[in-house]
Amino acid sequence: MNTRDFTRLVYKDVPDVDFLSADRGTCEGCGNCVIICPMFLWKLEGKKALLAEDYEEKCLECGACWQVCECGAISFDFPGGGKGIVVKYG
Ligand code: SF4
Ligand code: SF4
Repeated sequence: MNTRDFTRLVYKDVPDVDFLSADRGTCEGCGNCVIICPMFLWKLEGKKALLAEDYEEKCLECGACWQVCECGAISFDFPGGGKGIVVKYG
């Protein structure tokens, strides 16, 4: 399934709190998060990772960016309070 098909199955109650961030002081500028994100929400600016301002609306909460960040610069947690992604099935 490609990203476009997957996003058709997703409903999102947009979280009103931050659940994903990168510590620019810790970031080593490897670009792994930029490469792995299926929604293209990361870019490098000044050799540091920068997250899209509207990530709360677009992030699939897959955690891939967090997993591939070998220096631990990315903090990720699932949004609380029933907010965030709901994947429809069937
Ligand atoms: S959790 Fe997934 S969709 Fe969200 S920013 Fe990270 S890689 Fe992209
Ligand atoms: S994966 Fe981590 S170290 Fe690499 S650019 Fe992204 S935030 Fe920085």
